[in-house]
Amino acid sequence: MRTCKEISKLVSESLDRELPLRERMAMRLHLMMCSLCRTYSHQMRQLRSVLKKASDVETPTEQTLSEEARLRIKQALKKEE
Ligand SMILES: [Zn+2]
Repeated sequence: MRTCKEISKLVSESLDRELPLRERMAMRLHLMMCSLCRTYSHQMRQLRSVLKKASDVETPTEQTLSEEARLRIKQALKKEE
């Protein structure tokens, strides 16, 4: 039986990389029985998705990039005239 400390480590690792089947099973089994770790796992996932959304917003989409590039080209062409 794993301790909550070990499981919380597995939970945060599982968000960054694919865990080996054995670890995943141990984590799932523990989460089924331990509401503390279940809550922790849930909060970690929520936090991650919030962080991901925030970084998505900061990253310009391809469209804004090309829009910007077009403007820059226009301005560059004007200077040439
Ligand atoms: Zn636990």
